[in-house]
Amino acid sequence: MRRGSWKIRIFIGLAIVGFAMVQRCNNKEENPYTGRVQNINMTSEEEIAIGLQSAPEIAQQHGGLYPDERMQSLVDAVGNKLINNSIARETPYKYDFHLLADDRTINAFALPGGQVFITYALFSQLNEAQLAGVLGHEIGHVIGRHSAERIAESNFWRTISMGASVGADAGGIVGSIGQNTLLKNGRGDELESDELGVLFMIQSGYEPMEMIKVMEILKAAAGPNRAPEFQSTHPDPENRIQKIKEAIERYRGQG
Ligand SMILES: [Zn+2]
Repeated sequence: MRRGSWKIRIFIGLAIVGFAMVQRCNNKEENPYTGRVQNINMTSEEEIAIGLQSAPEIAQQHGGLYPDERMQSLVDAVGNKLINNSIARETPYKYDFHLLADDRTINAFALPGGQVFITYALFSQLNEAQLAGVLGHEIGHVIGRHSAERIAESNFWRTISMGASVGADAGGIVGSIGQNTLLKNGRGDELESDELGVLFMIQSGYEPMEMIKVMEILKAAAGPNRAPEFQSTHPDPENRIQKIKEAIERYRGQG
């Protein structure tokens, strides 16, 4: 490269970083359902579209849907009860609850826009109230827009690193939204979803203390022989049970 061109590269690099910073500021919006200010760069329609697009692949990775319709309709009934009794009903999201055939992996997760999944391995260990706790937690991820937030965050860092690589002439950095970005939650996301889950349980007439039993079941399941899948998509904050107890006290007082 011609002498002096490094100045242009650094200028372009800084411009890209500046662009990312400005965009991040412009993307701030308050979540109408949680009141939290978030960095989001997509509409709820786009969230729904991403979820619907990814759902078949996710189901396939877990051996497809569980064949017994009665079990599936129990999941639907509990999921819909939570929605109909909570703020979830007022959101634009299209909720769909899928019981996955996977009887080895203990997991549950949500895609943006309302696609919620639970494996048979986890489902088979829960009573109805505990199932409500798990589904309520996952609905919490949807309403909390946690995937969309992570996508915005990874776009931000991708743009920043692009700026840095232009400046350093390190070549292009290519990325796409991977499943990791969609499914992996942060510790803050977990606490927010736990709280929302507790609230939805109370509003739907379920005993919220069952949420603590869910935590115990998950802990026990993360033994040496069980794949700790739930841990990878749901990092466990240390004070999770304590925070759930606090949420129960707070929301019970309100109810
Ligand atoms: Zn979670």
